[in-house]
Amino acid sequence: MTAILSNLQAVKKALAGAAAEAGRGVETLQLLAVSKTFGAQAVREAYHAGQRAFGENYLQEALGKIEALRDLPLEWHFIGPVQSNKTRPIAENFAWVHSVDRLKVAQRLAAQRPAQLPPLNLCLQVNVSGEASKSGVAPAELLPLARAVAALPRIRLRGLMAIPAPADDKAAQRGPYARMRGLLQDLQRQGLPLDTLSMGMSHDFPAAIMEGATLVRIGTAIFGSRNQGEAK
Ligand SMILES: *Cc1c(COP(=O)(O)O)cnc(C)c1O
Repeated sequence: MTAILSNLQAVKKALAGAAAEAGRGVETLQLLAVSKTFGAQAVREAYHAGQRAFGENYLQEALGKIEALRDLPLEWHFIGPVQSNKTRPIAENFAWVHSVDRLKVAQRLAAQRPAQLPPLNLCLQVNVSGEASKSGVAPAELLPLARAVAALPRIRLRGLMAIPAPADDKAAQRGPYARMRGLLQDLQRQGLPLDTLSMGMSHDFPAAIMEGATLVRIGTAIFGSRNQGEAK
């Protein structure tokens, strides 16, 4: 059994356990395999282990992998910072973008989404920990941004995404995720038909699932550590 296959099986088992602990069915959870810094071969291996949805942070690296893997029916998610002059290849090659925090970027993605493709699924990234250096819209500015993005053509606003400041214990990890759940509920009460909370990574997904994550983004626990100079 390859490492990726056994890692994926272990992650799925852990997801099922966390879902059960949260009193939820595992079918309410989507697993996004974050393949950044790993090559097309690693993605292919994960595909053969049953994984379909992959997350990428760096556009040039992602485009190379997407091209190399055109023979597989994969679903690509862009989860890295979006530069407004790089929106076209994102609009043309991805099914989802999780990391939109400005109207200008959403407008460009909407204008550049090819007509023959389904609408681009989009999440708004929220700066839930209030870190000055972090990307993400401030919670206080979320509602007007969500309303404006939801009104764009060729875009389907699905929900919210967050990367909270790292915390060690589960109780501390749950705080920002609970806040995210509240923010999503606020938008739903305002009539926005949102169904996605993209939150939780290798080190904290159980906390995110306890607070209602519907999509967890997991890299290290599937592909291994990235800091060993992995092939791009
Ligand atoms: C790298 C990354 C992940 C995956 O992180 P791991 O700790 O490797 O699971 C998830 N989300 C985003 C936005 C990332 O950049």
